[in-house]
Amino acid sequence: MSDCLFCKILDGEVPSDEVASNDHAYAFRDVSPQAPTHVLVIPRRHEPDVGSLVEADPDAAVAVLGLAKQVADEVGGSYRLVFNTGADAHQSVFHCHAHVLAGRSLGWPPG
Ligand code: IMP
Repeated sequence: MSDCLFCKILDGEVPSDEVASNDHAYAFRDVSPQAPTHVLVIPRRHEPDVGSLVEADPDAAVAVLGLAKQVADEVGGSYRLVFNTGADAHQSVFHCHAHVLAGRSLGWPPG
């Protein structure tokens, strides 16, 4: 999508700090990290949220989860995988993305 920030990152139009990638997904560091490790994992296909990605392209959804696991395994220890879905859940970029948060103790419940 031409007006989507994360599509622009995938196209290289907006720079990003790449961490890992596979055929269906791309991982890069969040510009405003909320933990020592804060990586975003996005599908190459534009879908607005994780629910629509699962319905439209299950293989891409599995690829996002697999890449998130790879990133978390490389860091080691406990981690949190978050898909904010909808504005009231703090989703601000409407291209599906997983947050991988690690490297500190994480409270529960989230705010
Ligand atoms: P959301 O609030 O779940 O939609 O998460 C969007 C995330 O994208 C936020 O954590 C932002 O800090 C992050 N973000 C926004 N713009 C950029 C960017 O240009 N590069 C990397 N991360 C970004």
